[in-house]
Amino acid sequence: MPELPEVETVRASLARDLIGKKIKTVAVTNGRVVRRHKTAKDFRALLEGHSIKSAQRLGKNLIFGLDNGNHLVIHLGMSGQLLRAKNSKDPKPKHTHVVFTFAQGEELRYVDPRTFGELYVSIPPAEGVDVEISKFARLSIGGDGLTLRRQIPELAHLGIDPFEDQIGWDRFAAIMRSRSTSLKVVLTDQDIIAGLGNIYADESLFSAALRYDRRAESLSTIEIRRLHRAISEVLTEAIKHGGTTLDDEQFVNPDGKPGSYQQYLQVYNREGLPCHQCRLPIKRVTLRGRSTFFCEKCQS
Ligand SMILES: [Zn+2]
Repeated sequence: MPELPEVETVRASLARDLIGKKIKTVAVTNGRVVRRHKTAKDFRALLEGHSIKSAQRLGKNLIFGLDNGNHLVIHLGMSGQLLRAKNSKDPKPKHTHVVFTFAQGEELRYVDPRTFGELYVSIPPAEGVDVEISKFARLSIGGDGLTLRRQIPELAHLGIDPFEDQIGWDRFAAIMRSRSTSLKVVLTDQDIIAGLGNIYADESLFSAALRYDRRAESLSTIEIRRLHRAISEVLTEAIKHGGTTLDDEQFVNPDGKPGSYQQYLQVYNREGLPCHQCRLPIKRVTLRGRSTFFCEKCQS
């Protein structure tokens, strides 16, 4: 599943050529991906003829600002891809569900074999209407996150985005001390920290030398500072390498190219392989139906 670094890779790539472009037509061939709208026609009508003004990200959501103040929000779900094409003659991949055509004939295609992803147009709330924003996000002291949540009520529930919201380690500590569940559960709960999933939660915990099953409230100040730093360092490195593309998954950037952070993974998907730090085999456990990878010696 694409997580923050993969979504950010897609955002940065699309920002380079979509900003300023006018959406000429939108074709929807699978209504399931625009399920928030009554009909695919409603979705199309909100986009056709409008220009893209901005490309942002919050958690795992891509957000394209339109010239009328509305936002096109795209969540890639488990297997969504956004792929650019020079024109309609480029062969369409299987499972292409939405095609955006721009003024010069170039296309952006939404491809999703498992169809868990979604696209919708969000209309900002009327003046004076209060949006209930996540109590964790409200701890933010800077960044674009709060403005985005006010404009896009569908995303107001999202917890802290490690880059779009600014919180120092002390506020991060307050969040951790208020949670009695395990670190893995806290880090992957989008309503607490937005953007981390299975891969980057495991990698951040290894980098911070903390076990997945430690209760968040049990962390010492030093451990919290270590975790806070590890999350932003791991995500920054992963973005630098264009995200992670695993053998069994299909993450590619809009040019169809895979990421390379899989070469740098310390624990994720490395069950039985020697830990890069202590050489003991990496362990895997199943937690809430999903795999967690860790080193018994290096993480406590
Ligand atoms: Zn180790």
